Amino acid sequence: MIKSKGYGVQKAKGELQPFEFERRDIGPTDVLLDILYCGICHSDIHQVNNEWKESAYPMVPGHEIVGRVARVGADVTKFKQGDNVGVGCMVYSCRECESCKDGEEQYCKNGPVYTYNSEEPVIGGNTYGGYSNNIVVNQDFGLKIPDGMDLAATAPLLCAGITTYSPMRHWKVGKGQKVGVVGLGGLGHMAVKLAKSFGARVVVFTTSPEKVSDAKRLGADEVVLSKNAKEMEAHADSFDFILDTVSAPHDVNRYLSLLNRNGNFVIVGLPIKPHEVVPNLLISERRTLAGSEIGGIKETQEMLDYCAKHGIKADIEVVPIQKVNEAYERTLKSDVKYRFVIDLSSLPK
Ligand code: NAP
Ligand code: ZN
Ligand code: ZN
Repeated sequence: MIKSKGYGVQKAKGELQPFEFERRDIGPTDVLLDILYCGICHSDIHQVNNEWKESAYPMVPGHEIVGRVARVGADVTKFKQGDNVGVGCMVYSCRECESCKDGEEQYCKNGPVYTYNSEEPVIGGNTYGGYSNNIVVNQDFGLKIPDGMDLAATAPLLCAGITTYSPMRHWKVGKGQKVGVVGLGGLGHMAVKLAKSFGARVVVFTTSPEKVSDAKRLGADEVVLSKNAKEMEAHADSFDFILDTVSAPHDVNRYLSLLNRNGNFVIVGLPIKPHEVVPNLLISERRTLAGSEIGGIKETQEMLDYCAKHGIKADIEVVPIQKVNEAYERTLKSDVKYRFVIDLSSLPK
C-alpha cells in the first residue's frame, strides 16, 4: 500500500482537515503521481456537503489534478518518470460497454469510477481525490500535459475545461452563432474563453455586477445582468446555444425564452433543487433542453492539446491547502476569480 496524506472530511458538511490514508500499490498498468496542483470545483463542495445524497466518508475531494510521475508499473507505455500528467473526474471505467467503446467513459453503463467518492476497484473502500500529496491511476485515465503549459492554470481544465468544451463541440458551437453562458464561475469563465475561441458571439449572464468588466476581458461580446428583466428581454428568441453553469437553484424558463428556433439550452450546473420547465417554451420554437457530463478521456486530451495550441488556461487564485475551507466559503459567495487552485507543496512533508 502507498501512504498518502491530504485534507479530507469525516462527515457531511465537516471542515476539511489533515487526513492520512492509504492508496493501492501500483499495478502493472498504473502510474503513481506526486500531485502538484488541484483545482477546487463546486462539485467538491456539493459532495462534501452531501447535497447530491450520494457521499461516502471519509472523503478527500479534488478532481482537477496535475501531478508528476514518480513511478510507473511494469507494463506502462504511455508515461515515464518525470512526465506531467493530468487526472480529471474519472480514474477507471468498464471499457466494454457501448459508451466506453465510443470513448465516452463518463457515460459508462456500469458507472465510471470517479476520482473520489466512488468505490476503489482494486482494494475496496472509497477512492480519494486530489487534495493530497499523491495518487495512483491507470495509465489510460492519465492525460498528457503538453509541454510549456502553466501547470497550476491547467489544473482547472481537467474538469471546468472539459465540461464546457465537450457540450460545445457536441452541439457544434462555432462561427456565426450567438452563444450564452449563464454564471461566471469556474466553468463559466472557461466556457467564455472556449466559445470565443470557436468563433461564436458570446453573451454572459451574471448575477454579479462587479464581474461585468472581467467578463469582457475574458472574451464576452456582451454581458447581461440576469436580475434585470429588461436586459433579458432584449435578447428574446435570439440564441443558438446557451450553457447553464449555475450551481444554485434558479429559473431556467427565463433562458429558454431567449433561444431562437431549434436552439439548445444545455445544463451542466448541478443545483440540488429540480428545475421547473414551462413546456410551451420548448414546444413553441422547437427548443431543446439537454444536459452534459464532463467528457471522455480522448476528448479531454483533445481539449488539453487545443488549449495548449491556443494559449487557453484558467484564471486562477493559488492557495495553500490550509486555506481550503476559506476558499469554499468564498466560492459559495461567488467570490472567486475564477478558480481556486491548491498548491500541494503547502502540505507538511
Ligand atoms: P462556481 O465557480 O461556484 O460558479 C457558479 C456560478 O453560478 C457563480 O459564479 C455565479 O455566477 C452563479 N451563481 C451562483 N449562485 C447563483 C444563484 N443563486 N443564482 C444565479 N446564479 C448563481 O461553480 P463551478 O465550479 O463553475 O460549478 C458550477 C456547477 O457545475 C456546479 O453545480 C457543479 O457541481 C457543476 N459541475 C457539473 C459538471 C458536469 O459534468 N456537468 C462538471 C463540473 C461541475 P455569477 O456570479 O456570474 O452569477
Ligand atoms: Zn468538477
Ligand atoms: Zn463502460
